[in-house]
Amino acid sequence: MKPKIILTGDRPTGKLHIGHYVGSLKQRVALQNTGEFDKIFIMIADAQALTDNFDNPEKVRSNIQEVALDYLSAGLDPEKSTIFIQSQISELTELSFYYMNLVTVARLQRNPTVKSEIKMRKFESNIPVGFFTYPISQAADITAFQATTVPAGEDQRPMVEQAREIVRKFNEIYEPVLTEPEIMLPKNEACLRLPGTDGKAKMSKSLGNCIYLSDTADDVKKKIMSMYTDPLHIQVSDPGHLEGNTVFTYLDAFCTDEHFSRYLPDYANLDELKAHYQRGGLGDVKIKRFLNEVVQEELEPIRERRKEYEKDIPELYEMLKKGTEQAREKAAETMAKVKHAMKIDYFA
Ligand code: ATP
Ligand code: MG
Repeated sequence: MKPKIILTGDRPTGKLHIGHYVGSLKQRVALQNTGEFDKIFIMIADAQALTDNFDNPEKVRSNIQEVALDYLSAGLDPEKSTIFIQSQISELTELSFYYMNLVTVARLQRNPTVKSEIKMRKFESNIPVGFFTYPISQAADITAFQATTVPAGEDQRPMVEQAREIVRKFNEIYEPVLTEPEIMLPKNEACLRLPGTDGKAKMSKSLGNCIYLSDTADDVKKKIMSMYTDPLHIQVSDPGHLEGNTVFTYLDAFCTDEHFSRYLPDYANLDELKAHYQRGGLGDVKIKRFLNEVVQEELEPIRERRKEYEKDIPELYEMLKKGTEQAREKAAETMAKVKHAMKIDYFA
């Protein structure tokens, strides 16, 4: 049977937030601990981060450490998951170059995630070629490790689809040496694309509407207490709406029935709370306080572990170096097969 391999990662453009956590990181940790995957590769995508931060190398460099700390704190274990830095594996750049032949400009222009990112970054007609082609580079990242599974948030669906097309085309034109990956989305719908605390469609570092895994308990509380809810819910007695109500989306993402017995025993579960809110007579403050308890319970152990890992940064880099060396071996193996298939292995 084909080995089951995971490849996923994050851009080092800031510390990780609870959107990353519910969208991908939490699931990675769970998958790592089931042991059902033969290999797990977790990539810090610094080269990709440079495609829209090329003029700010210090930001990308300093956030490598932050993302690595978030990983370990959230429970990724370097003994079970290979954590590595993208730019240090030149095979990934090499693969991207050959994959560019297999993709048209029109196809890249159709990518809905890239479209909305271009808009958000106000590139207009000045789109850097590197940014425009990052879905191709991402296909290289995924396929270099022969990944079968990519645990990620919904915004990554078009990227994985692009990777699948490249694989099919490559395998058809040359030789069938690449593996077609599949995206693994979170099962909980609220986690597919967690909105920002401002109610905007996506919590994102670039939009500055995030609750970070490393935020202090005080910061988390402040952010939650000032979160976007239902603009029509003015008096406590008014009926409230759940649609687009970020506090309820977060509760959907984080809370369980046990949280109710611990922190809000007047209700058995989220359905009862929602029903009361819709009837009217339930204030936002009460719900936000409850959400704060739920989120703090999840973040507290992560925060504590982070403090420990922060004490030994050289050890952190040692871990990244080892992971990068291991990852490189796998990428080089694929690269050799690709070169053979493309008939550019002249000296083999
Ligand atoms: P940037 O603004 O730099 O693009 P980002 O916050 O969008 O940062 P990425 O590094 O692009 O984060 O995303 C890393 C992973 O986290 C991807 O799998 C992505 O799907 C997931 N993810 C990011 N934001 C969210 C979110 N709000 N909800 C669910 N998943 C998310
Ligand atoms: Mg992003």
